Amino acid sequence: MQRTIAVVGGGAAGVILSAHLVRAAASHGPHRQVRVLLIDPAETPGRGLPYRTTDPRHTLNAVVARLSAFDDDPEHLLRWCTSAGVPAEPGTFLQRADFGRYLTELLGSVPMPAGTAVEHLRGTVVDVVDGPEPGVTLTLADGGTLRADAAVLALGTPPPVRLPEYEAWGDRYVADPWSPDLDDRAAGARRVLVVGTGLTTLDVVAHLHPLLPGATFTAVSRGGALPAAHAADPLPPAVEVDLDGTLSPAGTLDAAVDVVRRRAAAERAAGRDWRAVIDAVRPQVNPAWSRLTADEQAAFQREHARSWENVRHRMSHAMRTHVDRLLADGVLTVSTVEAGLGGPGAPGRDTSAFDLVVGATGLPALTSPGWNPLVDALVARGVMRPHRLGTGLDLTTDAALVDAAGVGHPRLRAMGLARRGLEWECTSVPDLRRQAAGLAQDLLAEDLPG
Ligand SMILES: Cc1cc2nc3c(=O)[nH]c(=O)nc-3n(C[C@H](O)[C@H](O)[C@H](O)COP(=O)(O)OP(=O)(O)OC[C@H]3O[C@@H](n4cnc5c(N)ncnc54)[C@H](O)[C@@H]3O)c2cc1C
Repeated sequence: MQRTIAVVGGGAAGVILSAHLVRAAASHGPHRQVRVLLIDPAETPGRGLPYRTTDPRHTLNAVVARLSAFDDDPEHLLRWCTSAGVPAEPGTFLQRADFGRYLTELLGSVPMPAGTAVEHLRGTVVDVVDGPEPGVTLTLADGGTLRADAAVLALGTPPPVRLPEYEAWGDRYVADPWSPDLDDRAAGARRVLVVGTGLTTLDVVAHLHPLLPGATFTAVSRGGALPAAHAADPLPPAVEVDLDGTLSPAGTLDAAVDVVRRRAAAERAAGRDWRAVIDAVRPQVNPAWSRLTADEQAAFQREHARSWENVRHRMSHAMRTHVDRLLADGVLTVSTVEAGLGGPGAPGRDTSAFDLVVGATGLPALTSPGWNPLVDALVARGVMRPHRLGTGLDLTTDAALVDAAGVGHPRLRAMGLARRGLEWECTSVPDLRRQAAGLAQDLLAEDLPG
């Protein structure tokens, strides 16, 4: 029997899911075949937001050994590098453009069983409705329709929110750091303000610095802290941290934060790499998250998320060296804005102080209006609603969309940032491959209705 699965979005999540669906079909044997409709406007799948860049300074923030598309084949990416002529070792930080090529070529590396196929369809999905039974019908922007037994939304991340405080800058305010016209709009700028101090800010500065000789960059955020960096050896010896053991019912969040802090401090005091503690904790974060109360989850997001993200998503050692040089040379200045990014004392209030301001702030809500016609349609019809913590979607434990009446949809699932809330760790490649493996098993299981 052949099942048709529509995958909406052909970025990293959509491509990795498609590959997992093919592998899952192969493992079921000849009685279970799958037709994957991978729908994305781009000419080539795999080139979602981070992997479209051609700038060699834009590298991944994790090493080759960690970023295979398959948990059970950790050397898959390394083997691809060898066959594609991309110089790499397990500890290499690849250029993001190379990783995009890996994703584009991923489906070609998976044996395709008879009766199974992945069809890349260029288009934008603007709506999904139930029926004809059993299944769903997707509508494309060009008016075409597609029928599938189930659909997975792998839509990626909305562009950064426009900060009203900077609208007065007119054309000199680039709200989206990935906007294709950034270079043109930056031309000739001598003083650049970047709003945010995370990895995206470093990408913006590393990209614009050679294009704008002599320009200075000021990065501002409430915390004023740059992300941590990987050590020169990005694969420190593993340590064991039992987060789960600390999570006895009362005071769970505080106990977990405390155990991570104390272990990291102990490693540092012993002259070892504290980052090994973060790496050991990372796979335990989602199970721990699911044991927190709703209040504790909100408290984590409010009080600890920023510092966790700073140590969890690290810049490469090479980027650290580059950034240190820019800081020492006075090319880059990092400062704190206590009263909010546009509040009193914020640099953006004086529109003569900079020639260009680039937004590089955190993740907007997936249900933000206007960035995605499918999201707008599903929210308007009450098929989709935001998670109570704001960024992701309200989902059942198996990542099905929960509607305005609180009912999980039997045929609509979500991946990536949409899961923020159901899970905490949900956007990096290791998270996407874990989600993909789970979805592939579920969607090809015998008991999917119909
Ligand atoms: C700058 C940056 C660097 C990153 N670096 C790393 C890293 O080094 N390591 C790591 O593990 N993770 C990294 N990540 C996190 C993660 O790997 C990426 O965010 C990843 O691209 C997420 O994949 P995605 O498919 O969810 O989103 P995207 O890659 O953004 O893909 C979404 C796709 O869906 C399409 N789409 C959206 N709506 C529709 C629609 N209605 N119809 C049809 N198609 C639609 C879009 O056009 C897009 O192609 C990085 C993220 C960013 C932003």
